[in-house]
Amino acid sequence: MAHIDAIIKDHKSLSVELWPPRSEESLQKLENSLSRLGELDVDFASITYGAGGSTRDRTHDLVIKIHKQQKMVPMAHLTCAYHTKNELTDILRRYQDEGIENILALRGDPPVGKEADFVGGELPYAKDLAILAKETGNFCVAVAAHPMGHPDGGDQDSDLEHLMDKLKFADFVITQLFFDSEQYKVFLDKMIARGNDKPILPGIMPIKSMRSLETMARLTNQEVPSHVYEKILALGDDQEAIRSFGIDFATQMASDLLDLGVPGLHFYTMNETLATIEICKNLNYHTHR
Ligand SMILES: Cc1cc2nc3c(=O)[nH]c(=O)nc-3n(C[C@H](O)[C@H](O)[C@H](O)COP(=O)(O)OP(=O)(O)OC[C@H]3O[C@@H](n4cnc5c(N)ncnc54)[C@H](O)[C@@H]3O)c2cc1C
Repeated sequence: MAHIDAIIKDHKSLSVELWPPRSEESLQKLENSLSRLGELDVDFASITYGAGGSTRDRTHDLVIKIHKQQKMVPMAHLTCAYHTKNELTDILRRYQDEGIENILALRGDPPVGKEADFVGGELPYAKDLAILAKETGNFCVAVAAHPMGHPDGGDQDSDLEHLMDKLKFADFVITQLFFDSEQYKVFLDKMIARGNDKPILPGIMPIKSMRSLETMARLTNQEVPSHVYEKILALGDDQEAIRSFGIDFATQMASDLLDLGVPGLHFYTMNETLATIEICKNLNYHTHR
């Protein structure tokens, strides 16, 4: 199995985020998405984790399934919030024993109904989990970045300092989704000015409906650019037209990002891979070589 940072050094990567299914129906949907993904050369899939362990076994099972059945490398998300250090060490050791070598170290958000109380935890920040992963096994560790500002709403300079600090213990970065490649460039320039030399993979979410766009904008605490919002509003109930706009918009953004020299593209698929496949085909990116 490969360390993902070595893959990114070798070529511009393609990766997808997947969710562990929670029902028979969503398992079927995921299976379909996985078999369609065979149309692309996907380097790795990152598998989300419910903060506090709400998807602990389901995340583990999907990571192992991809490890055993797919060509792409799995990366397990893990969150430190609401876990003890011992629990996290056990999870990491289990992955290590099963040959999983790639971890996305995150803090996590409070589970629904729980107060945000991170500092009270044993490992309050993603940096602490990155350190634990490196101490526990031979892991390649990725961390998250928020180019449009962290949803906690602190000032961006402190966020960037914390990110640089976290990166001392990590191998590469995946960003939160965003809708403006210009602002992403501003973020990249700030990281370069701070001396960052670790790869930063941009996260792209193909827009598929007004509802999903509003939900993701709310969860990531960012504004949708008004020209995007107005365009989708103008398309009204025409779901096919919105989906098609979403693919064109993401294709253009991905193309702009590749022109900027990004080390790869990471797609938030929400377990629906058709849009990702179309975007990559539009760009002739990781279609079968
Ligand atoms: C690519 C990606 C994948 C994700 N996957 C998941 C997932 O699977 N499950 C999930 O629950 N969530 C996931 N998230 C969401 C993530 O958990 C949240 O954004 C969370 O609020 C912050 O996580 P973080 O890893 O960036 O935290 P951290 O890096 O710990 O930062 C959190 C906040 O604390 C501040 N901070 C950091 N260090 C210090 C310090 N020493 N002193 C004071 N302040 C500090 C930072 O500036 C920031 O404001 C994902 C996010 C991204 C971008």
